[in-house]
Amino acid sequence: MVNPKESPSQVAPPTGDMSAEEFRRFGHEIVDWIANYFEHIEELPVLAQIEPGDLRTALPSSPPENGESMAEILADIDRLIVPALTHWSHPSFFAYFATSTSAPGIFGELLSAAFDVKSMLWRTSPASTELEEVTLDWLRQMLGLDTGMSGIIYDTASVSSMHAIAAAREGVEMRIREEGMSGRKDLPLLRVYASEQAHSSIDKGVITLGLGQRALRKIPTDNEFRMDPNALADAIDEDKRNGFLPFCVVATVGTTSTSSIDPVPAIVEVCERDVMWLHVDAAYGGSAAIVPEMQHVLDGCHRADSLVLNPHKWLFTPFDLSVLYCRHMDLLRRAFSLVPEYLRTPEQEKVRSGSDYGVQLGRRFRALKLWMIIRYFGATGLAARIREHCRLAKLFASWVEADPNWELMAPLPFALVCFRARPTLADETKEAERLDDLNEAIMHGVNATGRAFLSHTKLHDKLTLRLSIGNIRTTERHVRQVWELLNEQLRRH
Ligand code: PLP
Repeated sequence: MVNPKESPSQVAPPTGDMSAEEFRRFGHEIVDWIANYFEHIEELPVLAQIEPGDLRTALPSSPPENGESMAEILADIDRLIVPALTHWSHPSFFAYFATSTSAPGIFGELLSAAFDVKSMLWRTSPASTELEEVTLDWLRQMLGLDTGMSGIIYDTASVSSMHAIAAAREGVEMRIREEGMSGRKDLPLLRVYASEQAHSSIDKGVITLGLGQRALRKIPTDNEFRMDPNALADAIDEDKRNGFLPFCVVATVGTTSTSSIDPVPAIVEVCERDVMWLHVDAAYGGSAAIVPEMQHVLDGCHRADSLVLNPHKWLFTPFDLSVLYCRHMDLLRRAFSLVPEYLRTPEQEKVRSGSDYGVQLGRRFRALKLWMIIRYFGATGLAARIREHCRLAKLFASWVEADPNWELMAPLPFALVCFRARPTLADETKEAERLDDLNEAIMHGVNATGRAFLSHTKLHDKLTLRLSIGNIRTTERHVRQVWELLNEQLRRH
């Protein structure tokens, strides 16, 4: 990447930062390097081909006594760091939920690192505070959500959902903020409901909030992995009869295993009947509502109390950036606002300060990258990319469906295909187990080639492969290639 022979004396003055001249030079080199990385990323193995501990042992065990040249540091990025990367930006990354960064997002990150604002009070970061409000309102409009929803940025969906549950709990009016939960005889067991397909972040949210795992009741799903709203209503009724206090339901739009969509319109009816908070986890699926003909995926959400969506999943935003839309910002504020004297400002009653709405005091200037992404691609450009990912997923699914050696394992409302190999086995004893082993071997075989990366889940107790399309660089060629790789592995096993 750079010439490592540069002398350290040129590098850093005895005090202070790198010189502007040097910053400019390495800055240009790094941008060149990144452009080159994207141009040649397909030559790299998607999944890091190293063994655990390899990088750690290649690195010095103690820090350098004296500063090193930037050239040396950057050379080690090539030599040590890149081989230890799993390349999430690779167009053949199909595992988990495939995501990707984008050029305007990278520029936003770069600028935000330069500004380095701590967006805690309006006055410490007017630009961050107001740009966040404006950008999230743009996004709200693009998603077709109503004006009653106000947005706030956190790092991840796990944190967004935890804050939503905390706001819901604040609405219970049992002075939990002031008196806590432990040792209280007047406090019934609070209950949160989510489907058995809900993301583990909901479990972690209730754990973190001190509600305890037993406060989360998992509701069964139908044969398409969607929450059963009748089972939800029955569970709430039963809990109420037994003295529990149900206060929050979490519905998911785009579950992690299959991307199924819980029936939000029916769930909202149950929540309204019982005056419960409805939080929608649309971390993955929500972005699809930007596509006009897919806006129905958020049906019913105009009656939800809060909704989380992750631009870092399917809106080409470099990790991290999660948005919580909330209809009751007053409750969120009541749950978290705490202004010590040293943070009091004359304008505090007139403005929004991010730290009033969450655990963190200082917050990164994340809105900048999202604003740049929305401006650069425009609503139509973002929709076109998501639409294409859905088309590619459906194309792949059509190959699976047409081939007797493979089968689809779940409907695909978005751009995630759940499938598995199901060839006729010569010997049918222990068929279920052998099919699981076969599919696992196929997945590991494909991943070991370094040319694609897939992950798995279990559906109806069957090992299922997942192909998620969400990377801005993925094209039909990559999808055809992974289909060939899968078939090659099937022939081998
Ligand atoms: N919710 C759903 C539906 C997810 O699929 C995921 C992660 O894949 C999360 C929440 C957690 O996301 P994060 O990593 O932003 O906490």
